[in-house]
Amino acid sequence: MPTNKRRELLQAAAALAATGVATQTRAAADTAMTIRTPFEVADTFIPIAGSAEQFPVRRIYCIGRNYAAHAREMGSDPNREPPFFFQKPTDAIQIVPPGETIEHPYPTLTKNYHYEVELVAALAKGGRNVPLDRALDLVYAYTVGLDMTRRDLQRAMGDEKKPWEIGKSFDHSAPLGPLQPAAKVGHMKDGAIWLKVNGQVKQNANLNQMIWSVAEQISKLSEAFELAPGDIIYSGTPENVGPVIKGDIIDAHIDGLPDIRVRII
Ligand code: MN
Repeated sequence: MPTNKRRELLQAAAALAATGVATQTRAAADTAMTIRTPFEVADTFIPIAGSAEQFPVRRIYCIGRNYAAHAREMGSDPNREPPFFFQKPTDAIQIVPPGETIEHPYPTLTKNYHYEVELVAALAKGGRNVPLDRALDLVYAYTVGLDMTRRDLQRAMGDEKKPWEIGKSFDHSAPLGPLQPAAKVGHMKDGAIWLKVNGQVKQNANLNQMIWSVAEQISKLSEAFELAPGDIIYSGTPENVGPVIKGDIIDAHIDGLPDIRVRII
């Protein structure tokens, strides 16, 4: 297709996207954009509990060191330094249906593979410079997630002042459960968050111990990036992160959300 023709179609799709509600927009854009490609690339979707619809994922943001005791164990000052963010690729998501044990592959290149249990917020609205008192309006749903980490590689890259990418943003590094709409479960501001390995409690804290709340994360994040529907945010892990090996079973829990379970293989 000639470039100018493609641009017209993209502009038409963008115009539709600006006016329509989400479901109509996607269908309309698909109709307008008959771009031919030499191969298919998979999109990422997360099931929505109690719905036939799935949530299309645009970006995965993660917040670092958002519980004081975890910040200390990672060697930094927890005194409310501004939150910092990194991203994972959307295809790092591994869906973990409640009640099932999903096999999670031990990744290559690491000898120190760590769990981090985290609350995940999924956005159905976007914005720039979102004020704090409107930040939660963007949140469509929540779920339990694991920010799986090749800790040795993360640390080595940090020591060399290189990007964390290889320690954080690898294949399958983002297991999570189906989304639980906030309209049903409410907004997650406090409640137990814990993680067990082989039945033994490893992490055990409360969501109210976050340094930056979900609303504050969204507000701060939107100063750095324009947020959009389909973005999800891993909101940081409490203290006592640690290693797993092949054969270990991880159970992750947040009050008010279904638990998730993976087996490391
Ligand atoms: Mn994390």
